[in-house]
Amino acid sequence: MEERIISSEAGQEDLSFETSLRPTNLKQYIGQDQVKENLTVFIEAAKLRSETLDHVLLYGPPGLGKTTLAVIIANEMGVSIRTTSGPAIERPGDLAAILTALEPGDVLFIDEIHRLPRAIEEVLYPAMEDFCLDIVIGKGVEARSVRLDLPPFTLVGATTRAGSLSAPLRDRFGVHARLEYYTNDQLQEIVIRTAEVLQTEITPGAAAEIARRSRGTPRIANRLLKRVRDFAQVLGNGEIEEEMAQKSLEQLQVDRLGLDHIDHKLLRGMIEKFRGGPVGLEAIAASIGEEALTIEDVYEPYLLQIGFLQRTPRGRLVTHLAYQHLGLEVPGV
Ligand code: ADP
Repeated sequence: MEERIISSEAGQEDLSFETSLRPTNLKQYIGQDQVKENLTVFIEAAKLRSETLDHVLLYGPPGLGKTTLAVIIANEMGVSIRTTSGPAIERPGDLAAILTALEPGDVLFIDEIHRLPRAIEEVLYPAMEDFCLDIVIGKGVEARSVRLDLPPFTLVGATTRAGSLSAPLRDRFGVHARLEYYTNDQLQEIVIRTAEVLQTEITPGAAAEIARRSRGTPRIANRLLKRVRDFAQVLGNGEIEEEMAQKSLEQLQVDRLGLDHIDHKLLRGMIEKFRGGPVGLEAIAASIGEEALTIEDVYEPYLLQIGFLQRTPRGRLVTHLAYQHLGLEVPGV
């Protein structure tokens, strides 16, 4: 798959950069008001009762702030956080080692929790419910099960696919929080805050321009800001104003709605080869040389979100909005 500047997945380059940009408490966390309000109450209540916070499941597309929220939950509870991910835990012993090393009250953050192997999920059930581990010692007729007490902890699970989580695991989370795409105003606020952290001057108009092209996603907004800052530094005086932002983003081939050449290729391919559809996913995949799964998971969600594609029982359909955006004549009008 091609590297894209508007990818919502974290690349290698994003990792250390993002750590320095993360808001550290709920007040600094912009948007997601409903989630924030609920969490504020649950955290306050847990603290008043001197209990650990219930387990929290965060779900939503990549780059919307799930990891950030997990860190904030730990900060607000005044405890430490231990971070791992579904694919990183290969054996039940790996999970047992992590759980037994927790301090009372700690947050354990498991990213991509839908990718935990089923055998490991089963170790997690008694751990989440009763704070204990059932460990089998020995083999065959000698085998016996030993119950091990764990310190009470809060599991924060993050997933991009709530539907892929098994029902027994999902049901063991007391708090379910769904993160939504951000509005342009919220993204503008995030860009202004990030520029402050980076000690870069930016005008509100330039921040709005970056926000509009960020596909509702803070990770993309921060990445675009970083690249635009490079242009402003080399081609201007370092300050980011609107015209500089526009020019840089054009140079980066991110159009005024945040679409890049791959989005254009997909839409134009469907229009030119299939008259805009409806057309099946497999046929689209074959025609542009991509895997159907990549199209479904990575390419089409934003196009569906902004109403450029529609899912119908007979396949995907390019909408009039997309024709207009591409400057093409709308068929049959
Ligand atoms: P996810 O875990 O959902 O993929 P992250 O928590 O890693 O997303 O967030 C990606 C980047 O976006 C981080 O650098 C973070 O600082 C920034 N970010 C996410 N949500 C917010 C927010 N609500 N306010 C400010 N910055 C945010």
